[in-house]
Amino acid sequence: MSFERTQEKLKILADAAKYDVSCASSGSKRSNASKGLGDATGMGICHSYTEDGRCVSLLKILLTNYCIFDCAYCVTRKSNDIKRAAFQVQEVVDLTINFYRRNYIEGLFLSSGIFKSADYTMERLVAVAKKLRLEENFNGYIHLKSIPGASDELMREAGLYADRLSVNIEIPTREGLKLLAPEKKREDFINPMVKVKNEIILYKSEKDIIKSTPKFAPGGQSTQMIIGASGESDQQIMWTSNYFYKNFNLKRVYYSGYIPISYDPRLPQIGTDVPMLRENRLYQTDWLMRFYGFEVHEILNNEHQNLDLDVDPKLGWALRNLDQFPVDVNRAEKRMLARVPGLGMKSVHKIIEARRFRSLNWEHLHRMGVALNRAKYFLICESRDFERRDLTGPQLKSLILQNSTSKYQKVLSSQLNLFE
Ligand code: SF4
Repeated sequence: MSFERTQEKLKILADAAKYDVSCASSGSKRSNASKGLGDATGMGICHSYTEDGRCVSLLKILLTNYCIFDCAYCVTRKSNDIKRAAFQVQEVVDLTINFYRRNYIEGLFLSSGIFKSADYTMERLVAVAKKLRLEENFNGYIHLKSIPGASDELMREAGLYADRLSVNIEIPTREGLKLLAPEKKREDFINPMVKVKNEIILYKSEKDIIKSTPKFAPGGQSTQMIIGASGESDQQIMWTSNYFYKNFNLKRVYYSGYIPISYDPRLPQIGTDVPMLRENRLYQTDWLMRFYGFEVHEILNNEHQNLDLDVDPKLGWALRNLDQFPVDVNRAEKRMLARVPGLGMKSVHKIIEARRFRSLNWEHLHRMGVALNRAKYFLICESRDFERRDLTGPQLKSLILQNSTSKYQKVLSSQLNLFE
């Protein structure tokens, strides 16, 4: 295989992989002036987080962008008129090792279109991971996409060689999936997730007894949903996330604003803005559910089916629940402090620690580095001063918006570009 052909494949298959955000963000700017193999500029280097929270750079590619399916939202769908390519198993192994030795990457993120069948494709993904681990002694991070419909045995093998496994749900509702990917069923995603969840539990419990038991997908499993392709509400999206977090012990759900890529009456037209701000608000809601003790129905319900894009979801919730404020810095439970707009968990812990020794006032909070620009409308402390006075929710919202320049305004209509 010529160097030019490998480079061309790399370009095609790294570009096709950029639509998968389940290993988050950005590309490498590192280039190779000597024209040797491994010029990383624009060649699909992304970043992800390992089990212990380290940020690692990954070679992010598809094994192939051929696919027997025709999911309307996907650039790889069989009816799309694009240049196709496929790597051999050994090529991916060689590229990974090559990039790793050059210090361009610390691991591999490998996904694929489906050629022939789910098992045929999954077998090749597993073979890459197996060769890297057993033949190349590669101990870097490996994230494998599980192919929906692949057999249990292949899923089990994948978990023995990969750090993380993920199956993308893609479309948040059954109705949306039926509309845009009628060949697929929700069960095709759920079954591999059940398998991975059960194997993780099984291997962990065996390891507690027999120390030599290998690890199974120690980085857990994750999934991704495309946002804005099928008209679902934020309420539906977050209930779906909640269901997958609770039932499959997912480490992360990723939200990917739909990038219009085809002329299809079922989808937003080409040129429609990518819903970047909505995506961001969904991530914030996800965070509130996982770390701040919020339930989905508190933030999204039949009266409020979509998030307010003007303000973050915690502020949105607080403005609708002003009767629960002000919260007393010196007496409130941790749960309520965590619900104060503008207070992160770090500040909450600092406050709880500090108030054990003294009654806190505004000056103390300032000196502790607690951000009060929004929190001051929802808190009282020693002085009992209270900035909100008799303002209604809408009045308070406009006051807060007047006094803050949203860091998100500038990205309102920008296109998602994972490789810049
Ligand atoms: S099966 Fe996957 S790769 Fe193939 S068209 Fe559907 S989403 Fe794209």
